[in-house]
Amino acid sequence: MSYKEVLDEISKSIKKELPPNSGVTTIEFEGPEVAVYSKNPQILVEDETLVRKLAKKLRKRIVIRSDPKVRLPKDEATYFVQKLIGEESNITTIDFDDSLGEIIIEADKPGVIIGKSGETLRKIISETFWRPRVQRTPPIESKVIKTIRHVLQEDAKRRQEILRMIGKRIHRPLIYRNDTIRVTGLGGFSEVGRSSALVQTGESRVLVDCGISVGAQTPQYTFPRFDFPEFDIEELDAVVVSHAHLDHSGFVPYLFKYGYKGPVYATKPTRDLMTMLQIDYLDVASKEGKLQPYSQKEIRETVLHTIVLDFNEVTDIAPDLRLTFYHAGHIVGSAIPHLHVGEGLYNMAFAQDIKYARSRLLDPATVRFPRLETLFIESTYGNPNDILPTRTDSEKQLEDVIVETVKRGGKVLIPVLAVGRAQEIILVLEEMMRAERIPLIPVYTDGMIREATAIVSAHPEALSKSVRDRIFHDGENPFLAEQFNHVSSQEERERIVLGDPAIILATSGMLNGGPSVYYFKELCEDEKNALVFVSYQGKGTLGSRIQKGITEVQMFEDGKTIMYHIMMQVHSISGFTGHSDRRELENYIRKVTPKPERYVMIHGESTKVVKLASWAYKTVRKNCLSPSNGTTIRLH
Ligand SMILES: [Zn+2]
Repeated sequence: MSYKEVLDEISKSIKKELPPNSGVTTIEFEGPEVAVYSKNPQILVEDETLVRKLAKKLRKRIVIRSDPKVRLPKDEATYFVQKLIGEESNITTIDFDDSLGEIIIEADKPGVIIGKSGETLRKIISETFWRPRVQRTPPIESKVIKTIRHVLQEDAKRRQEILRMIGKRIHRPLIYRNDTIRVTGLGGFSEVGRSSALVQTGESRVLVDCGISVGAQTPQYTFPRFDFPEFDIEELDAVVVSHAHLDHSGFVPYLFKYGYKGPVYATKPTRDLMTMLQIDYLDVASKEGKLQPYSQKEIRETVLHTIVLDFNEVTDIAPDLRLTFYHAGHIVGSAIPHLHVGEGLYNMAFAQDIKYARSRLLDPATVRFPRLETLFIESTYGNPNDILPTRTDSEKQLEDVIVETVKRGGKVLIPVLAVGRAQEIILVLEEMMRAERIPLIPVYTDGMIREATAIVSAHPEALSKSVRDRIFHDGENPFLAEQFNHVSSQEERERIVLGDPAIILATSGMLNGGPSVYYFKELCEDEKNALVFVSYQGKGTLGSRIQKGITEVQMFEDGKTIMYHIMMQVHSISGFTGHSDRRELENYIRKVTPKPERYVMIHGESTKVVKLASWAYKTVRKNCLSPSNGTTIRLH
């Protein structure tokens, strides 16, 4: 069947089921969804069960949109909503999404608008023909989220064309009908960095992750191996991004520079965070005079081609592929992509960068899947002796360092990555202060942490149950606690350095640039101060040299060499990692259900993938592999 025939058939069965007064004008594939345009959308929106039943019957995601011709002009719709809702809900913004036919209402108290019976929402749709989407006003303003929204609005027409083109491709007729399934490692196999796996089925080609090895010295080791013969950009159906870290998302815009026109699937927090990190990557590269593999233009293209999916939502991404994101527990928005091939033919999941333990910010990684034949799993801490201290011990250690430093009248400097560790440490500090385990002193955040925290707190639904409960039920947002202050000027920095005891969280996490280096230089020669590493320090970075115990550092400033003597206390606390340690990986492999028939160890140095694979083989007695980049594994 051609695409047109598929669409005609679906249209026919939709029209047959809908009431005669539903005013359907057009039915289109838009990305993975079937969009039903109607002159009377309120009838369809009200009868949710009807649409749900229809979606189930057709096994498609169906969305109802108003026909653009009947939508009230935007200024009139805005006026109507403001008058209807009044002031008690504190509307902060009213925005429109043309491609979805949505009016986005942001308010401090969204509950007031939604109301008990949904009466208000029904009135908005029946009077304005815009579908209301009510959101809580993000507690901290995010520039990146604003930019993304602006891009999507400005290019709403193109966005719609893109979605229709993607929809056409997903619903193209099956030609080959062969059952072979292969996965090739283009990056991140037997190494950490530039993660990218190419999945090939009889019909389709999908890239799972497309990262950059930020610390690598040559292009050959920095980017995924698109020169391997299995990879053909023309044939690519979709790119799936597990999470925002650059070693998983950093190279996605490059694909658009070289002619890719297809979709990028990610969770909403991942889309926002990866956009922030990609913009920053270009900034840093240009400041350091390094090669920029793409430009702002391609980041914009990536945004326009990104389709956001909720967790646990099954989505067609190719004629023979369905994708579902499961929680990975690693950073906000991080997912385990699960691919279902054909009608029950084969299932695989990519559990790379997972945390199989509870953190303050996130719930642990999912271990239950509907079906699973091959599990790809990370091996970052794959050695038998990669056992990290427990969270409780690590928090105690941090607590002791802070208490002692404050007693001495010193300051605590914690270099952190902007995304992930920073928010986790903010929650840990907030909790310690609330429980009076450490004194209530100012906590300064500097660098990209504020923007990352703004994005994280705009997505409370992706956070752990305990944080969600505090935000939604108790109305207290831990990220907004008054001891947290963001630093935005050099004068402030100078005041902090001269001022009273304080905790400073600053990027970069490995002291290889950014404000953390400034604080280090100012604080290192005073033995009252403390430096605490809470994340892995990459080889060759200033952080790792300090960890090894150097006592002097030479720095170049304004053409001069200045020698710094390290007198401050140096501590390393490793239990805050967002990765699973060896014990957690073993638990994950033991507990994952259903039991896969094959385990593929990836995302780890070559000795670690081998060690984890051999342990897994002895334990589960299944096929356990530890392939390198360039290896193609035939799964079926
Ligand atoms: Zn990661």
